Amino acid sequence: MRVNIDEEACVGAGQCVLAAAEVFDQRDEDGVVVLLQAEPPAELGEAVREAAVLCPAMAIHVED
Ligand code: SF4
Repeated sequence: MRVNIDEEACVGAGQCVLAAAEVFDQRDEDGVVVLLQAEPPAELGEAVREAAVLCPAMAIHVED
């Protein structure tokens, strides 16, 4: 699995961090998402997909 994020689209809602804190964080200054793991292990796949679905800005893109 490979994760891409669109920083321009991110509105700092933080849903991704709630869903998968191992993979996503937020910048202190403005809340924009920080990708901690671009290729997370398989066991985090479900949480990452959940984060992508929950993101209100559709800023998270997942490739298999
Ligand atoms: S859920 Fe989406 S909009 Fe919110 S911080 Fe994460 S990537 Fe940004």
